[in-house]
Amino acid sequence: MRIVLLGAPGSGKGTQGEKLVAHFGIPKISTGDALRAAVAAGTELGKKAKAAMDAGQLVANEIVIGIVEERLAQADAQKGAILDGFPRNTAQAEVLDGMLRRLGQPAIDKAVHLAVNDEEIIKRLLDRAQKEGRADDKEDVIRHRIKVYNDETHPLLDYYAKQGKLVTVQGVGSLDDIFQRILGVLK
Ligand code: ADP
Repeated sequence: MRIVLLGAPGSGKGTQGEKLVAHFGIPKISTGDALRAAVAAGTELGKKAKAAMDAGQLVANEIVIGIVEERLAQADAQKGAILDGFPRNTAQAEVLDGMLRRLGQPAIDKAVHLAVNDEEIIKRLLDRAQKEGRADDKEDVIRHRIKVYNDETHPLLDYYAKQGKLVTVQGVGSLDDIFQRILGVLK
């Protein structure tokens, strides 16, 4: 099973993704986590990505595409994967489809959209800012990330809808309720 998680920053992709990992026993590929790890480790890739991340902008396509391709080629991803934070624009989605073909893997089964209203998103991200102190969880950067999401990532809903793969789940409520909704639409 290959699933793409779609949703605004703070919509719960990371949290629900972990639950899907536990449930299906397939790995989660999070470009955000991979990039933060690269920044923390001070690698060349991390140095290239940092400025864009701190500003709430997208990191260059070739960087994230390289991360995903390397990860999808590993043994544990052969039976499936949960993609969190990738693809984030139409170009990445098209590359992903080609990449899976090239790797000899089945296509994406479903794109799960976690729908959460803007007010709730801002509230959650400001809350996370206090608890985790992520460099990009500052109010002006948060607003910019939401704009980038609306401009560049939201059109992916249409991309997957046209392929008949889009399922939408209300992302507000208890974590378990949301997870049950996700399992429901994946059946
Ligand atoms: P959130 O969903 O909360 O915005 P992520 O952890 O998914 O956070 O991503 C954090 C940052 O990492 C993004 O704002 C962006 O700079 C970078 N990033 C993550 N995934 C991608 C991607 N697929 N393409 C480009 N940049 C990305």
